[in-house]
Formats: sequence, structure tokens, C-alpha cells
Amino acid sequence: MTVVSGPTAVGKGTVVSRLRQEHPEVMVSVSATTRPPRPGEVDGVHYHFVSAEEFDELQAAGGLLEWAVVHGVHRYGTPRAPVEAAVAAGRRVVLEIDLQGARQVRASWPHAQFVFLAPPSWDELVRRLVGRGTEAPEERERRLATAREELASAAEFDAVVVNHEVDQAVRDLVALLSVGNMGGSAT
Ligand code: 5GP
Repeated sequence: MTVVSGPTAVGKGTVVSRLRQEHPEVMVSVSATTRPPRPGEVDGVHYHFVSAEEFDELQAAGGLLEWAVVHGVHRYGTPRAPVEAAVAAGRRVVLEIDLQGARQVRASWPHAQFVFLAPPSWDELVRRLVGRGTEAPEERERRLATAREELASAAEFDAVVVNHEVDQAVRDLVALLSVGNMGGSAT
């Protein structure tokens, strides 16, 4: 199992969706979230978009491998069953989750591989966040505050991939996937 984490707007979503297209043998986990869909996002593909009540039920039933409130507003979590089934089937699993979630996974799957996706620079990260234009200024500020803290945590990870350019970042990630520990044990 490989956990990919990194600050807001670094391009995690883009890198991971390219990985999914180019490497269908890799199981990329689809998270549940209480955040509403952005334009173009499809339920069951980008996320399972659920109500707060549905999220509560999943959580209470032990159906989440990890979960977190991200950027202070919405909840995000990794559905447990599909991940466990894929690991049992010997597939490589990739989770794209925030740092809080990565820390939870480290506690339960210490043999997983942890990859930090980093921006080329702080200014470039700000440029990408402003450029995608999906957050109101207040939300943007909140995300940048979180991002500052997250960048300081890169050293907790096994490897860092710098996302200068998406093709190269995908290649770097794939290279790490093929050498990393399969992390098939939950001990
Ligand atoms: P966005 O709202 O931009 O899609 O995602 C916001 C953040 O939530 C990103 O940092 C992303 O990595 C994180 N995230 C997405 N799914 C999960 C999940 O299942 N668990 C956790 N802990 N974080 C997630």
C-alpha cells in the first residue's frame, strides 16, 4: 500500500488520476467525503459524495480505514472494504489522503510506503491554488495555512516527489510504486 500526501493544490488529484488511467492494475482508493462535488466531479469516480449522516454511519460501522476533517470544514475518509479486498488480491493500493490521514495509516499499516508530493516552490503552490479558482478567498487562506504546516512535515515521509510537471511526477511515482514494499500486512 502506498500513501500519497501533500499540500493543497500541489496537483495530487491530477497525478493520481493519471496514475489511475495509465496503470489500471493499481487500485486507487475512492474516498468518501461530505464536501459537495466541484463542477466535473463524478460521484463514485472522484469521490463518494455522502451526507454527514451517511459519513457518520460509515464511521460508526468501522467502515473507514482512516478519516479526517480537512481544511477545517468537511470530512474525508478511506472506505476500508475495497482497500482490504484489493490488498488481499495482491494488488498495489494507492491512497491519496491528507497528512492527518497518512499519520493514522502509519499507525495501523506501518509497512506501507509514504510518498510526499511537493510543489517546486511556495510561490508556485500559491499560483496553482489561485489559478484553479475553485475556492473563495477565505477558503484559500485556510488551505494555505494548512499547506505551510504540511510542507514542514515532508521529512516524515519515505520519499518526496516534486511536482514540477505532471508527466515526470507520474513517472517518479510509478518508479517508487514498483520498488516499494507491498505493505500487505496490517500489523
Ligand atoms: P479536495 O477537497 O481538494 O478534493 O481535497 C482536500 C484534501 O482532502 C486533500 O488534501 C486530499 O488529500 C484530502 N483527502 C481526500 N480524500 C481523503 C481521505 O479519504 N482521507 C483523508 N484523510 N484525506 C483525504
